[in-house]
Amino acid sequence: MKNKNTIAVLPGDGIGPEVMKEALKVLDFVNNNYQLKIEPKLSEVGGQAIDLYGTALPDKTLELCQKSKAILFGSVGGTKWDELPSEKRPERASLLFLRKHFKLFANLRPCKVLNDLSPLKEERIQKGVDLLCVRELTGGLYFGEKGKKFNKFGEKGAFDTLNYFEKEVKRIANLAFTLARKRKKKVTSIDKANVLTSMVLWRETVESVSKKFKDVSLEHLYVDNMSMQLMLDPSPYDVLLCPNTFGDILSDQCAGLSGSLGLLPSASLGENDFGLYEPAGGTAPDLVGKNKANPLAQIHSLSLLLRYSLKKEEAASLIERAIDRVLQKGIRTRDLFTSKTQTLVGTKEMGDEVVKEMERLC
Ligand code: NAD
Repeated sequence: MKNKNTIAVLPGDGIGPEVMKEALKVLDFVNNNYQLKIEPKLSEVGGQAIDLYGTALPDKTLELCQKSKAILFGSVGGTKWDELPSEKRPERASLLFLRKHFKLFANLRPCKVLNDLSPLKEERIQKGVDLLCVRELTGGLYFGEKGKKFNKFGEKGAFDTLNYFEKEVKRIANLAFTLARKRKKKVTSIDKANVLTSMVLWRETVESVSKKFKDVSLEHLYVDNMSMQLMLDPSPYDVLLCPNTFGDILSDQCAGLSGSLGLLPSASLGENDFGLYEPAGGTAPDLVGKNKANPLAQIHSLSLLLRYSLKKEEAASLIERAIDRVLQKGIRTRDLFTSKTQTLVGTKEMGDEVVKEMERLC
């Protein structure tokens, strides 16, 4: 039985606890400001849990997740646990397990680009870049039949197969169109229908779903062309609807466009409102304990949780407006610091700045 006010908070390893502390500060503010009564409950995960309990996902952590409305995840892993067998390592045994266990079939990665951080020339991004990558997460090439084989000459080979069923494409397409309705009402569906049969099914199914969303425009782009357009002129795009593998690659290309991992949140969603929310980056061992990590991806992950799992749009949007304002004012952690006219701050100070900006906006 789920407790409607509980969220599971799993800070994990490395910079996870430092950036999570800032996200919890922000949660405290919205809890008080909107009388939300959200109860964050902390538990161990990843390497920290291996050290304490011998497993990256102890039963008590899984039980907490099962009783919660959503999971706010930090990041897990580090060299200390690299020697373990792959199925016991922090990422596989906790994060990948949770995604599978809760059938989280969609991964959302919003990406906004700040002019001074993008590797692209200013004239290519001056119209603004605001993308939402919607990636299918539990089907396609990574989950199809795979194996090793030999040909008739005894040469060693290996294969992976790319399968999609209509049902899988329909549910991710439905989500992409529904999300586009609240944005610029434009879906770009990515495929490779010129050479892959599974991608013909993808394209036909997306077309059929689009008939229910007449107010949202749809275009199809081959993945190679999409990858080129992201470098040439990313401004016209809104929601990118991607099969698993293409989404894996394009979402990292979007991350590259934005210039820093410390800015990028992600949401993994299932059939109901339950979701797992986490920064796109890892445990950043080079920054641990130095008050240098950027907490904005973790704070933005919290706003996605409020929007998608708890339906608290007002609070989510307040957090996002505060993040935008802080960045526009030139307040930056080291990963975003590009000019002496900006103000360099640490992890804790960045969290404080977001809270101060929320106070001003209320
Ligand atoms: P990483 O994302 O931890 O670091 C890559 C680079 O990005 C580093 O220079 C780091 O300083 C920087 N960076 C990352 N997050 C940042 C932030 N919030 N603020 C400022 N800079 C930031 O990737 P890595 O070095 O390849 O991996 C380190 C560890 O993290 C490994 O053990 C890996 O397995 C794990 N990892 C975990 C996750 C996850 O939990 N989802 C994801 C990726 C990597």
